[in-house]
Amino acid sequence: MRCSICNEIIIEGNRCNNFYDCVENWEEQNGIRRGTWMIEWMNRVNRRSAKRNESNFVKWSRNVQG
Ligand SMILES: [Zn+2]
Repeated sequence: MRCSICNEIIIEGNRCNNFYDCVENWEEQNGIRRGTWMIEWMNRVNRRSAKRNESNFVKWSRNVQG
């Protein structure tokens, strides 16, 4: 079974248990430096002048983070 986000092999469910590992796997696969998401996510939270071009991944990460 593989994670629906980062495609890593997982034991159960359809996503990694560890959200942070999952996102960083995803970043690595997309040529992004690991950890970039957190900086961008915090920036997005801090200044709520969000641009309206969200990827599915961004929507998903927001759902997970609440
Ligand atoms: Zn994953």
